[in-house]
Amino acid sequence: MPHGAPFAKLKTMSASATSPENTAAKAAKPAMGDKPTPMMAQYLAIKQAHQDALLFYRMGDFYELFFDDAVAAAAALDITLTHRGKHLGAAVPMCGVPYHASESYLQRLIKAGFRVAICEQTEDPAEAKKRGAKAVVRREVVRLVTAGTLNEDSLLDAKADNFIAALACRGKAPKADWAVAWADMSTGGFFASACNGDALPALLARLRPREIIVPDAVTAAMADSPTLGGLLHDSQEDGGPMISTVGDVTSKLAAEKIAADFGIACRDGLAQEGAAVNLACAHILAYFEATQYDTQISLKAPQAERDAQIMALDAATRTNLELNRTLSGPREGSLLHVLDTTVTAGGARLLASRLNSPLTFREDIEGRLDAVQAFMDAPDLADGVRAALKTAPDLARALNRLAILRGGPRDAQAIALAMQAATQLAAGLINKMPENCGELAAQISGLGTHSAALSGLRQRLDEALDDTLPLLARDGGFIAAGFHPGLDEARGLRDESRRIIAALQNRYAEETGIKALKIKHNGVLGYHIDVPAAQGDKLMQAPHEAVFIHRQTLANSIRFSTAELAELAGQISRAGETALALELQLFEQLSDDILAARDALDGLAEGLAIIDVSAALAHKARAENWVRPQLFDDKRFLIEGGRHPVVETALRRDAAAPFIANPCALDAAGQAAPRMSLLTGPNMAGKSTFLRQNALLAIIAQMGSFVPAAKAEIGIIDRVYSRVGAADDLARGRSTFMVEMVETAAILNGAGPRALVILDEIGRGTATFDGLSLAWATVEYLHNVIGCRTLFATHYHELTALAERLDGLANASMKVREHDGQLVFLHEVESGAADRSYGIHVAELAGLPKNVTLRARHVLAQLEENDAAQGGDKLNALPLFEASSNSEAAQERKQDHVRAALAALEPDRMSPREALDWLYQLQELADKDDATD
Ligand code: ADP
Ligand code: MG
Repeated sequence: MPHGAPFAKLKTMSASATSPENTAAKAAKPAMGDKPTPMMAQYLAIKQAHQDALLFYRMGDFYELFFDDAVAAAAALDITLTHRGKHLGAAVPMCGVPYHASESYLQRLIKAGFRVAICEQTEDPAEAKKRGAKAVVRREVVRLVTAGTLNEDSLLDAKADNFIAALACRGKAPKADWAVAWADMSTGGFFASACNGDALPALLARLRPREIIVPDAVTAAMADSPTLGGLLHDSQEDGGPMISTVGDVTSKLAAEKIAADFGIACRDGLAQEGAAVNLACAHILAYFEATQYDTQISLKAPQAERDAQIMALDAATRTNLELNRTLSGPREGSLLHVLDTTVTAGGARLLASRLNSPLTFREDIEGRLDAVQAFMDAPDLADGVRAALKTAPDLARALNRLAILRGGPRDAQAIALAMQAATQLAAGLINKMPENCGELAAQISGLGTHSAALSGLRQRLDEALDDTLPLLARDGGFIAAGFHPGLDEARGLRDESRRIIAALQNRYAEETGIKALKIKHNGVLGYHIDVPAAQGDKLMQAPHEAVFIHRQTLANSIRFSTAELAELAGQISRAGETALALELQLFEQLSDDILAARDALDGLAEGLAIIDVSAALAHKARAENWVRPQLFDDKRFLIEGGRHPVVETALRRDAAAPFIANPCALDAAGQAAPRMSLLTGPNMAGKSTFLRQNALLAIIAQMGSFVPAAKAEIGIIDRVYSRVGAADDLARGRSTFMVEMVETAAILNGAGPRALVILDEIGRGTATFDGLSLAWATVEYLHNVIGCRTLFATHYHELTALAERLDGLANASMKVREHDGQLVFLHEVESGAADRSYGIHVAELAGLPKNVTLRARHVLAQLEENDAAQGGDKLNALPLFEASSNSEAAQERKQDHVRAALAALEPDRMSPREALDWLYQLQELADKDDATD
């Protein structure tokens, strides 16, 4: 590898025969037997080093692909496959994409799961010729384009982070320390978090990385783990992230690497998070080094995040609640889609990130809510802010492109515009916000100080940049007139020479008497004199032949040059070159000026995004009549007039009947309300909607937003679980009873007293008695052992009998009325179990023959009789969970909890404050375990 990758070696994961990687891998065939041409030899050598990627081999204005690369790319891009020359006796398949349009092709290839190595000509062809007529121009791979290393706007979703994540694992299962580091190459954002192996899938589900780096050691550790084994495989199946590898890095090297890139303080800070975090960060750096070659990588110092700060939402819950996309796929109809009214790209990314990582620290949430409140209370101000923000381009990504030297004049302009919006906002907001505006206070004053500090830069950019700008600096013409005297002079000379040429044309026309004589320009001849064929002879005779030199005879015209014209042409081109060189130099200076102010600009980008999110959430809350949630440290969940934001929006859009708001009252402590609600009611009555809406209320509240309810009191929730029984889970297509049980197991093993659990028709996917028994035992376990807030919807009416035996469980049902012979769903939740006769009732309404429904009623009555005689009593008499919970299970659990917590403590690393917090937590754990004895 020509460009340093001292400790990182790229490798490919074993891939199935149909995967893009594998197709690409076969492309490099060793040249055996007859000798390849020098160019083919160069191609094969480069391809040999990049077997896992499609090789874009630059030839003139095209990137060419050969062999299997060409076959794969032609199919993926739907372009023509041709052949060129022969290699080992066979024609070489080939296809190409024009250099100027390469981005759109790249986008499609990346989307299809390929990685692409960009191989450029790295010397002037004239240089190569000096080595001999047959010498091949030197070429090198300058960049490996992968899903996680993009920074071009055209290849990115403006509203989504584009994370690449790296895993690290230290120690042996089950005691292994895991960590994930993640970075966004398009903004320079870099983060890391330690986590235990069980929490890894949820963290990845939250980040939704486009690419995951899995070092060899981690691949092995994952294969050994029952929970992680399928993770990478599954994600690939779903068109999920690209999986890449790097060679293993030692902890020592990792620490050195991070110290070298970000300083000792950063290394030591990360070390406090555990060695695995250090390692994960180093894997990201190693991968960038191995894939980005000459590109200057510009990541910010990694920020460590603590697991406990963020509400845990596993992948199934996110999918199930349709946070980012609906079960059927599109973003439209998801919670994010309904929630997001931001007006900037940075704001949209921040909002999505907050939705996907709600907080668990009350003070932090209140800080966000205060910010929303401030805009709620000042609607005109908020509207003005949103109008100003609309003019702010994507500052973070523009800045980062300049930092990695892939920026252009339009990025500089984007920064100027963003600074302008920030200055305007700062002036408009300072002194106008109420004292208590939460997180906005710091952001607004930051905007003020940064804008003031940046005013020089802003002015300079305003003066420097022209109004219309080319995408690339090398196209020139972007520096405004009057900015640089030298540039003005060079441009003047260039334009002056053009006028002289026009004058020369007039003079030649007069002197020769050929009125149609023109001075033209083309790529082959440069400037030349063009006369109609009929009059060409005149110039080849005296006296003109001494001045006009014949160059070319065409069907309709004859072309000449003169010494004077050649001299002028030289002047023009020299002036043009001087102007362009000056412009490039000025661009470099402007970039340097911008990057020198990077910290302030980063501050602006963050401030603008936070202001946008706060104003957008206030806008939403005002438009939809949402209220500020009240947060508590206890375990209540008391909602009045709660609504499902997405269903409500959909009903309104379809001009259907309005959404019916419903209350929900739970309290894990069992004081204000029961801890568990068992919801029954016929199909289509609104059970699933009610369950999900309450989970969404918790998430929306803790992300720091107002909520769709009349009143909401929420004791902080540390994780939300949402599961749907297999029969309802059609959209995922692989719904089997096994999946349902695996997911239920995850809840029962993972939920703690602060969780909110939503179980919708669990136990449907199997035989009735199986299903009923499992649902029964699950309810008991959640109620008796975990004791968390739970909503449980079921079609097993038998379960309603449990309310008599479990004092923290209450029945609720969906109200239904019969009206003019029609069954009407009122969508209202009322207390008490549902009347169970609706199934047959619905069948009657549907027109089933009278004999059948009569017979059904008869059978039902008999079944109920039998049930009352034996089944019901029997179930009540069974020792089920209560008995066993007294003995081993509870004992084991109790030891588990307190011991596990103790074992994880590291007293040497704790502040006195943290130690005290821990004491309280341990006490709470012990209390809870005692309560379940
Ligand atoms: P279930 O789970 O009981 O079968 P769903 O929750 O799937 O019922 O709801 C069925 C349909 O009823 C929804 O698609 C929605 O259109 C409507 N619906 C549900 N809840 C409400 C409500 N609170 N107000 C108005 N319409 C509702
Ligand atoms: Mg349902």
